[in-house]
Amino acid sequence: MKDTKTHPGSCLCGAVAFTATGPLRDVLGCHCGRCRKTSGHYWAATSVPLERFEITKDEGLAWYRSSATAVRGFCRQCGASLFWKPEGEGRIAIAPGAFDDAPPFTLSGHIFTEDAGDYYAPEGPPPAPGPAQAGLSCSCLCGAVAFSVAGPAGEVWACHCSQCRKLSGHYSASFDADEATLRYRAKRSLAEYRTPGGATRGFCTGCGSSLWFRAAAGAFSVEAGCVDGPTGGQLARHIFTASKGGYYRIDDRLPQE
Ligand SMILES: [Zn+2]
Ligand SMILES: [Zn+2]
Ligand SMILES: [Zn+2]
Repeated sequence: MKDTKTHPGSCLCGAVAFTATGPLRDVLGCHCGRCRKTSGHYWAATSVPLERFEITKDEGLAWYRSSATAVRGFCRQCGASLFWKPEGEGRIAIAPGAFDDAPPFTLSGHIFTEDAGDYYAPEGPPPAPGPAQAGLSCSCLCGAVAFSVAGPAGEVWACHCSQCRKLSGHYSASFDADEATLRYRAKRSLAEYRTPGGATRGFCTGCGSSLWFRAAAGAFSVEAGCVDGPTGGQLARHIFTASKGGYYRIDDRLPQE
C-alpha cells in the first residue's frame, strides 16, 4: 500500500523539527568522505520532493555549503546531521535516524562504497585491520576543528542507541581514546552538547560534524568518521541494538548487545 502519511522528525535537542509526507524513497547509505565526516561513521538518507517536506521548527537549523551544488542541514545546538539538499533538484535528502516515527522505508543500497572507512565494510564483515596508528589526526568537514589523539584506534564499536541515531542520522561508530592525549590544532567552532543522560558530545557548529563523546562517567571516545586517513582500527561490536532502527539489518556477524 502506498504510504501517504505525514511523518514527523526532529533533532535530538528539539530545536529543529520537520515533517515529510510519503511516499519516501528507500534509504541509501553514503560512504563518501563528506558524509563520513558529518555523521561520524557513514551517513544514510531517504529523499522526498520539496513540496512534501516542511520545516516546522528552525530555531537550531544551520546550513553548511559542502560543495558547489549542495548544502547540508544540521542542528547547531545538538549537532544532529539532518539534511542534504542538492541545488535545483526540487528534493531534499533526510537522515532516517531523524524521524520520530518509523516510516516504511528500508535501506536498499550503498553509494560511494570505494570511499568507505578502513574499519568497516559497507556490507558484510569488516576487512582485516591495517597497521595500527600511533597517533590519529582528526578534523571536521569544514576544517574549523582539528585535533590529534594517541592511537591505536583498536576496536571500533557501533552504537544504535536512540541518541546516536538522532545525532548521526543513522548510527554511530567510535573508538576509545585517552582524553589526556587530545591536542587541538584548531577549535574555532567546537561546541559541546550535554545530552539528557549527562554525557557530552563534541561537534562543529560550522559544519555539524560529530567529533567525540565523553560519557557521564568520563570515558572518552572519538567518532571514527572524523579520522583523516586510515584508522588502523576495526569494527568489533554493536551495542544498544535493542534501540536500532527497523529500516536496516546488521549483516557483519559481529557480536551484538
Ligand atoms: Zn538539536
Ligand atoms: Zn566544521
Ligand atoms: Zn549511542
